[in-house]
Amino acid sequence: MNALQSLTINKTAGAVPRVKLLIGGEWVDSQTNEWRDIVNPATQEVLAQVPFATEAEVDAAVASAKQAFQTWRYTPIGARMRIMLKLQALVREHSKRIAVVLSAEQGKTIADAEGDIFRGLEVVEHACSIGTLQMGEFSENVAGGVDTYTLRQPIGVCAGITPFNFPAMIPLWMFPMAIACGNTFVLKPSEQDPMSTMLLVELAVEAGVPAGVLNVVHGGKQVVDGICTHKDIKAVSFVGSTEVGTHVYNLAGQHGKRVQSMMGAKNHAVVLADANREQTLNALVGAGFGAAGQRCMATSVVVLVGAAKQWLPDLKALAQKLTVNAGSEAGTDVGPLISKRAKERVLSLIESGVREGATLELDGRGVSVPGFEDGNFVGPTLFSGVTTEMQIYTQEIFGPVLVVLEVDTLDQAIALVNANPYGNGTGLFTQSGAAARKFQNEIDVGQVGINIPIPVPVPYFSFTGSRGSKLGDLGPYGKQVVQFYTQTKTVTSRWFDDDSVNDGVNTTINLR
Ligand code: NAD
Repeated sequence: MNALQSLTINKTAGAVPRVKLLIGGEWVDSQTNEWRDIVNPATQEVLAQVPFATEAEVDAAVASAKQAFQTWRYTPIGARMRIMLKLQALVREHSKRIAVVLSAEQGKTIADAEGDIFRGLEVVEHACSIGTLQMGEFSENVAGGVDTYTLRQPIGVCAGITPFNFPAMIPLWMFPMAIACGNTFVLKPSEQDPMSTMLLVELAVEAGVPAGVLNVVHGGKQVVDGICTHKDIKAVSFVGSTEVGTHVYNLAGQHGKRVQSMMGAKNHAVVLADANREQTLNALVGAGFGAAGQRCMATSVVVLVGAAKQWLPDLKALAQKLTVNAGSEAGTDVGPLISKRAKERVLSLIESGVREGATLELDGRGVSVPGFEDGNFVGPTLFSGVTTEMQIYTQEIFGPVLVVLEVDTLDQAIALVNANPYGNGTGLFTQSGAAARKFQNEIDVGQVGINIPIPVPVPYFSFTGSRGSKLGDLGPYGKQVVQFYTQTKTVTSRWFDDDSVNDGVNTTINLR
């Protein structure tokens, strides 16, 4: 594998590499005047620069995808499947090397970076089953001599817009399944950490994805809006913040596209006093502070019910033990936030919590990491005495900040979670089957964990965030995404085996 296909290495001493576009199978140096630094969040070292592609470059990427669709849509399903088989083998082979790049540009620990790649790899593995996933249905003799069957046909050029927090997993949620279904694709990775995404795209090319079937453009709002309004794009998958996701959903929808938009979250973990105490506390701390809280399925609110209110000191003690350090260093639990801007936002939300009267049990401000003094670090931060009006409860903080609320009963906990506008994930910690069953029935959240802190489904199910965390009917991966990336055509057919058949004229709507 040539690791540098997606990067231009400028020979001038001191010049940083530049990330390329992929258009029509060619690695292209962008002609744009607008470049953005890709910065290591632990050191502020500029790793590379990413272009904000021009309108003409976006047009060229879509045009190449449109042209490639004319042949790719007729490529035998087995041939598409074999490319996915090759891709899964390549991703597995190169996972450790990509994890180092991902950790450097995103900040998460090497182990978590490998997890990011692995959760995406599972979707590629699932795409290898496209032969059965894309099967239609058949009913014989729906009327005399009449059969009805469905075809699941690809829809054309699809596009994906991805966030910074999972630069491997989320692009892999999108392009492998879209392509396996017979579509062509234009990917717009996060401009904050596109290098690991590009290494995966290189592997897709190496696996045999033909020229034009997968294209990559980089950029921000202008490129995203260009995708949402482009006449030749049929479907847009978006993952990112609620603000941008709502904009993308509306804009692309107004331009006639299928859209799925996976957005922000506020995930509650509800703790009953009969739960396994040690396992539960471990789960809360891991899911609250892992990846520095920058996961859409991170636990961000703990609801202690009844006697579980007494667990607060133990929660604090465990969170206090976490090691804050660069993702590259052994033993790190909490790495840096993605950018200085993200850090400032998290700090200002912590300040709002103090101002609004919450109790700051653990203060992660002012953390300094020896050797990485410039890193965007915030240590584990824990608030108790939080109410539902406070900004630390109403806003998605997207940092290592856990807020604790207290209620007396499971019914009150369920009502609290259901009153929150977000519906990405939630968890219940209990040893009671009856309580778990009541919770899974009554809770209005799309992904529920029972003694599981981050209930992201495996790829043969679908990602099913709901309410304020999602727009569009169908989620990423699993059976739902096959529906999203295909158009169902229903054929009703009748064949005559000789010329003597004559049913006469039928002026009714009924089949005979
Ligand atoms: P973001 O919304 O800032 O960026 C997402 C994408 O949108 C990027 O590719 C970016 O370039 C583009 N973008 C940014 N500003 C834009 C604008 N004004 N107009 C058009 N496009 C724009 O999100 P992020 O900060 O990269 O990611 C974190 C967010 O993503 C969090 O809110 C998190 O909860 C959410 N997220 C959700 C899921 C999910 O499945 N629900 C998964 C991962 C992340």
